[in-house]
Amino acid sequence: MSEPDRRQPMSDGRWIQCQGCRGMIHHRRFARDLGVCSECGHHHPVTAEDRVEQLLDPGSAVPVESAAVLADPLSFVDSVPYPDRLAGARERTGLADAALCARGRLAGRPVVLVAMDFRFLGGSLGAAVGELVTVAAEIAVRERRPLITVTASGGARMQEGVLSLMQMAKTSQAFAELDEVGVLSVSVVADPTFGGVAASFATLADVILIEPGARMGFAGPRVIRQTIREELPENFQTAGFLLEHGMVDAVVPRQDLRGALGRLVAATVPVTAPAGLSASDGGGGGETGAVPYVPEERDPWEVVRLARDLGRPTTADYAGLLLEDFQELRGDRVFGDSRSVVAGVGRLGGVPVMLIGHQKGHTTRELVASNFGMPPPEGYRKAARLMRLAEKLRIPVVTLVDTPGAYPGVTAEERGQAVAIAENQRLMARLTVPVVSVITGEGGSGGALALGMADRVLICANAWYSVISPEGCAAILWKSPAAAPLAARALRLDAGELLRLGVVDGVVPEPEGGAHTDPVLAARLLGAAVGTALADLLPLSAAELVRRRHGRFRGFGLPAADSAPVAVPVVAAAQR
Ligand SMILES: [Zn+2]
Repeated sequence: MSEPDRRQPMSDGRWIQCQGCRGMIHHRRFARDLGVCSECGHHHPVTAEDRVEQLLDPGSAVPVESAAVLADPLSFVDSVPYPDRLAGARERTGLADAALCARGRLAGRPVVLVAMDFRFLGGSLGAAVGELVTVAAEIAVRERRPLITVTASGGARMQEGVLSLMQMAKTSQAFAELDEVGVLSVSVVADPTFGGVAASFATLADVILIEPGARMGFAGPRVIRQTIREELPENFQTAGFLLEHGMVDAVVPRQDLRGALGRLVAATVPVTAPAGLSASDGGGGGETGAVPYVPEERDPWEVVRLARDLGRPTTADYAGLLLEDFQELRGDRVFGDSRSVVAGVGRLGGVPVMLIGHQKGHTTRELVASNFGMPPPEGYRKAARLMRLAEKLRIPVVTLVDTPGAYPGVTAEERGQAVAIAENQRLMARLTVPVVSVITGEGGSGGALALGMADRVLICANAWYSVISPEGCAAILWKSPAAAPLAARALRLDAGELLRLGVVDGVVPEPEGGAHTDPVLAARLLGAAVGTALADLLPLSAAELVRRRHGRFRGFGLPAADSAPVAVPVVAAAQR
């Protein structure tokens, strides 16, 4: 099954020939650059031993051994008996089998690491590797330390027959336990990762990072080509292909792996106390203790136009301005990755959060790349995946809403746009971690609500939220898009009206003239409002959060006296 060919770099001891550009690299430079060619960026294979050294804090690694496994359960013989093959691999690599495991620290925090070694029988998954990965997961569960795996494998080990297949089951159930206890798992995919490893622990991790140029898939390209008798796309099953198809979170160059892993580990330490955040005083004054902020009366059509200003900060801008150590996470693990939703983990005032928001752009090119902020189903499914991850890791969810609407298109309908939007609402209704949502620009209908069912719903002063765009409403009811300003007024879609209707709990002030005039200040105001909301919500139990969120949405449409109690409106009015 070890299909992808994996040559070791040619070496004369001091000079190594790059497998990518064929240039010669001095061995010292090669080692310093972690086996990456500085000319062409080709990532060469890394031994398990080197991985452990590259990823864990210096001096922190303590090897983990696993129990002895059946040596040759089938008495397997092909051209040579399996025991002889094993003995040869041990002799060549100095390893007992195709993986090493160590406890250690990463960016100062305890982790457990398993690194596979392709040199050992193509990194094939037999009982020894399966046992080691399982033991590592069990340590992670017991000691509540994140599990990191680095894979390089052709697949299951044929010489151990169906027992090697069972290693997939064994490791997969170990990962289920990680989910149950809320321990983070990160998979680092190196070239190549195929078959049984790809179809078990390499892709079951919460976060999947892949090295540039690395390939991953279930069936290898040769098998696929033989089966379908067609040529395959050039980048088939490579890192870029997998990112585009939603299968991995990020392509990370080897030099940046430690940094990315450190950010993930740090951003996912669960919080129970609002460390760096200050709660509101109950009266809703926010950090200044000021009276609730109510935006000045303004023509709703003017608000609609301001909300669409291309200079307004996007979710990606807010992520950079608001969060420490933001690590973007991508992909729905089903079909694709939509750039119309940006999401990831980072820390807000020291508190880890999962930030998820619609993404527009400032230029035509950016707008096209983000589909003008109109997500297809895979955008919503990425959001759902990451909300579930936030719940698993017990970290709050912060969503930023800014969309003209969900993408209306044939492909979106084929993949279940309505289902994706509906499922997000059901999911958000029952999340057991705090959820704060801010409408930062356009709150366009169901596409906005699919990220907007929160414990605390805030809106920026120049944002709008409505069941339909003013243009859409004007076209249908006034039979003319030119009536959009009239429709905007009739729909009562601005912050003041939404506050009166109870649809939003508070209004986030914007810099004079709008958020686009001073994005840094806009981000500070938004950060203060979200921080205050989180500080109020973090002390609440999971059951209380769900109960109050239910109440918040239960009463809409009923006369005020009959409606269920809604959360106390708190306006985090961070003043200048
Ligand atoms: Zn090169």
